[in-house]
Formats: sequence, C-alpha cells, structure tokens
Amino acid sequence: MVQGVGGSSPLSRPNDFGDAVDVPMIHDTIIVGGGSAGCVLANRLSARGTHRVLLIEAGPDTPPGRVPEDVLDSFPGRAYFSPAYNWTDLRVHLQPLPHNEPRPPAERGYEQGRIMGGGSSINGQIALRGDPADYDRWQAMGARGWNWEGVLPYFKKLERDMDFDGPHHNKEGRIPIRRLFPEVWSGQSRAAAEAFAAAGYEYHPDMNEDFVEGYAPVPFSNAYDRRVSAAIGYLDPVTRQRDNLTLMPETRVKGLAFEGRKVVGVEVANTDGSGGEVHRAAQVILSSGALHSPAFLLRAGIGPAAHLRGLGIEVLADLPGVGQNLCEHPITAVSSYLAREARLDPRTPRHIQVNLRYSSGLEGCPPVDMQVNTIQRSAWHPLGKRLGTFQIWVNKPFSRGQVTLNTSDWRAEPEVEFNLLSDRRDLDRLMAGMGFLAELMEHDGLKRCLLDPFPSSYSERVRNVNKVSFKNWLATGFLSTLMGGPGPLRRFLVKNVITQGDTLKGLMADDGALEAFIRKTVTGIWHASCTCRMGAPDDPLAVTDEAGRVRGVEGLRVVDASVMPEVTACNTNIPTIMIAEKMADAIGAD
Ligand SMILES: Cc1cc2nc3c(=O)[nH]c(=O)nc-3n(C[C@H](O)[C@H](O)[C@H](O)COP(=O)(O)OP(=O)(O)OC[C@H]3O[C@@H](n4cnc5c(N)ncnc54)[C@H](O)[C@@H]3O)c2cc1C
Repeated sequence: MVQGVGGSSPLSRPNDFGDAVDVPMIHDTIIVGGGSAGCVLANRLSARGTHRVLLIEAGPDTPPGRVPEDVLDSFPGRAYFSPAYNWTDLRVHLQPLPHNEPRPPAERGYEQGRIMGGGSSINGQIALRGDPADYDRWQAMGARGWNWEGVLPYFKKLERDMDFDGPHHNKEGRIPIRRLFPEVWSGQSRAAAEAFAAAGYEYHPDMNEDFVEGYAPVPFSNAYDRRVSAAIGYLDPVTRQRDNLTLMPETRVKGLAFEGRKVVGVEVANTDGSGGEVHRAAQVILSSGALHSPAFLLRAGIGPAAHLRGLGIEVLADLPGVGQNLCEHPITAVSSYLAREARLDPRTPRHIQVNLRYSSGLEGCPPVDMQVNTIQRSAWHPLGKRLGTFQIWVNKPFSRGQVTLNTSDWRAEPEVEFNLLSDRRDLDRLMAGMGFLAELMEHDGLKRCLLDPFPSSYSERVRNVNKVSFKNWLATGFLSTLMGGPGPLRRFLVKNVITQGDTLKGLMADDGALEAFIRKTVTGIWHASCTCRMGAPDDPLAVTDEAGRVRGVEGLRVVDASVMPEVTACNTNIPTIMIAEKMADAIGAD
C-alpha cells in the first residue's frame, strides 16, 4: 500500500467499487519544482529518449512566444515583486530572534519564484560563477568531486558566453551570458568606475574568469535585451516536443508518497487545495528551492527527530541537518538622487552595469569577501528611475539560519530564520563597508552624479512601494517631482519621508547609530541556499550525498540551491544551474 504525505495517510485510489488499487507507475522521474534547477533536470533527463520525466510546477508556465513582457524585460524590477510569480504567503525573520517565548510572528515578505523557471524567471539576471575557492571548500567539506576542477566543465556546459572565448568559456550552452562594456555605461557607472580606480582597484573585463579584487562589467543571463531564464533556455520548443517529457504547470505538490522507506511518487493538490491525484515514479527529485525542499523533507518525517516529534510527525529518517545551515548574503546600501546625466539611458535598460569585489581585510575573513553593485535604476516607478543605489554585501558570510516547520500542514509556509549578522564578523564587515561607500561618495565624479546620498535598504515599506500599482506610480511620481526641486527641499524629503531620520553623515559620525541602522535594516539578496547540504557519509549534518540522494530513504534526491554546502561568493542562479547540470550527469550515470 502506498502511504501519503508524511507517510501517514493511504494514497492508493479507490476504484468504482471502493477497493484500494495501486496507481500505475508511468514515470521514471518526477521533478518537484520547475525552477532554475528543475528546468535543467527536465531537459537533461528527458534527453535520454526512454526515460519518462514529469515536471510539476506550482506556478504558471512560460512557453515560447507567450513569456510575459515583465519576465522578458532586461530590467527585472517589475518581475521581482509581482504577486503573480511569487510565493506570496512566505514570511521570514531576517534578524536573529530573541530567545524568550513566545516568538514574534514573521512579518516580512521574501521573494521566491512561483513560475516556470522559478527564481531565474524573476531574478536580477546577474550571471556569476563565484570563487574557485568556494568549490574547493565544498570538496573539503565532504562534497566529493565538487572542487573547482569538478565544477568548471558544468559552468562551461551551461553557458553561451557572448563576449569571451577560450579554455574557461563555451559558446554553445543554453544560457547566453553577456555584459555591457564601458562604451555604453551610464553616467553613474562611468563615475563609479573612476571612483573604484581612484580607490586603487583595477578593471577586469571578465568576472567569470578572474576571481580577484577589482571592478568589472556585470555578466547577465540575457540575449538581445531579453531575459533568458532556465525555462527559456532549457524548455525550448524542441525539448517540449519530446514524448517522454510531461510538464504540469499550475499544480502544487502536497507531499511525497512512500512504500516503507522508499519514495514512490507524489500527491498533488486539486485546485481547491483538497486531496488530488498520486503520480508514481521510480524516483522523485525535489527541486523546490532552498526554503521549500527542506519543508517537504520535514513534513515527510525526514529531519531532526526532536523537532519532528514535537509536531507529531512520525520520524522516518533522523537527519539533523535538514533545514539547518541556511545561508544568505547580508546587504546594506546607499542611494542618491541621480543628476540627469547620470541616469540610465533607455537604450541600455540594464540597471546593474558595473560592480566591485574587494577584501574587507578583517581578521579571520577570507580574501575578496565583499561585493558592491552599482544600480542605475532602483525601481520601475518614476522615483526609482531617478534613484541610484550602491549595494554592498558580504560575499562570504559566517552567519547561518534555519528552516523549520510550525505545523505539519502542507499548506503552511515553513518558518524561516535567516539569523543575518548573528556572527559579529558579518556586522563588522557591513559597518566598514558603509564607511567605504561613504568615502567613495566623496569622489569628485560621483559627487557630481549622486546628489544627497542617504542610507537605504529593501525594507518592507520599500518592497510594498515596489509592487506595480497605479497608487504606487502616482505617489512615487509626486515624490520624484518634488525631489527634482531645490536641494534643501530634496534633503528635507530624504530625511523625513524616505529614511525617516537617518542620514549618511549622522551614521558616519556615530558607530552606535551605524550599528543600530545596519542591524535594523539589513536584508538578504534572495540567495537562500544550503538547507539540505551534500556531504560525506560520516558527516551527521549532511542531508544528501554528492549526487543529491537523500540519506536514510530510497528513491529521493534533492537537486537545487539547497544542496550547496556553503553559499558561493556570488549570486546563486548560475551555481544552481551548474549543480543541476552536474547532478543530471550523475543521475544519468546511475
Ligand atoms: C527576486 C530575486 C532576485 C534574484 N536575483 C538573482 C540574480 O540577479 N542573479 C542570481 O544569480 N541569482 C539571483 N537570485 C537567486 C536565484 O534566482 C536562485 O538562487 C535560484 O533561482 C534558485 O534556484 P532553485 O532551483 O534552487 O529554486 P527556484 O528557482 O526557486 O525553483 C523552485 C521551484 O519550485 C516550485 N515549487 C516549490 N514548491 C512547490 C510545490 N509544493 N509544488 C510545485 N512546485 C513547487 C517553485 O514554484 C519554483 O518554481 C534571485 C532570486 C530572487 C527571488
């Protein structure tokens, strides 16, 4: 008999006479989640003509010719926050929680793609590989075969680099990667580059070949000013025509189906959320992202035994690492009103053109541990078009969070605690980073471009204003017109309407105020990862082996950003696609 969600309720279907019958096995592999990793797997596994693959995605499909305009846009600011493409009930804690009970409810939203392509359909399109040392550490942490030498062939396999060639690049992969070079940079980008050079940093045109300190054009996954998501790149018309590949969009998976300790399929929900069909397969792959994949395991009884028992979930495999080790890059920022000549040229709509990597030099921190992104257009609305932002983030953070459950109910989002800045070294680096940004703003060229810099963050208020609506367009249009007025009026508005009291000068003059500001406003940059990390068989906190197989059960793998042992020193989309490419090879070899 097949056991259902969490291994507790029978899932075999009653026939017309009310007898239980087994659901036929018609798929070899079911992939749960058509995101950055899921689309790669669907393509690669179905390329073997006899292997029957079912890809189930909760969000809408983006078939060729019918990809929504806001998804295709090179400027991602409308897709980022669209409720049509996100898990809108997800709430998270960013800062460490006080230890006393009761715990405050998580009031803050956190974007996670709910659309074919997942994060790759709504993200900022930045396409970086990270530091070779990241992967050497993965191997040292027990992920055999995942050192730089082991992953480079897959970074090459996924890309069609439109600018560079040579032994580190490929011209034939499914994700085009391009850059905007200095000739077409906006006024802000050019001034930022001059300021970086004046601060002693060199220009490196190819960030994906050299992982060193310096500034560079930012690579992005895009061709001819159109986003190329994992769905667009890997679920192309030819792939979609394969008889052995079934796509099931707008279908939410409720949970895993078991026979004993073996996973034999999944149960999907009917549109009204009630119990639905069971789909059987020889193996199930969770590619539901770093917040939802561990939640599936926990609800199925795979995770820390004490936590599961506390929720009345029967323990199938005691894996203490499930949901632990949650990584994110903590970030803070300085924004400014852009002088007219510094604004984005509508002919080159990319909002992030140049960035900088540098070393904090803080004791105990690795080299090249910081990143600055320069943004020429901070949001889709009239005010966003006139605001430039310098984001600064810790590329190699020490703080770790966790994903747990509040309830065994499959409808409920998991409890997510990022614990940002729980390691003091992350706070110290952001504080020093703000000082670095404040000094940069004193550079003559930047001073001419960036009027009245102020400390900023992706606060809940900013997230709400960044949702596309007529009301937000009207309010920001009005504010933007006033901000274009005389300097004293602008400074008044910045202090009283935007920052609500904080000023860059004030924070720079008072370490206590700076620390308080950063603690209060720190956010992540949507790089949730590492919650089902792969590792060696004798590592008690490893959740999967190096091919994504979940320990303690059969027929189940995790393949997505969850399996990273540690977050990469870069944005996480291209590393996730690389993981899926490499694991697809391992699965094929099995
Ligand atoms: C707003 C935003 C901006 C970002 N910017 C960048 C950037 O510029 N560059 C970069 O490199 N990275 C960026 N990232 C991060 C990057 O996109 C992610 O790390 C990456 O997409 C993770 O891939 P994944 O396959 O692990 O998960 P996802 O791509 O999130 O895929 C998981 C999929 O599973 C589906 N799913 C979950 N639960 C269920 C269920 N119960 N039933 C059915 N389907 C389910 C989801 O709907 C989703 O489509 C950004 C992310 C976001 C959200």
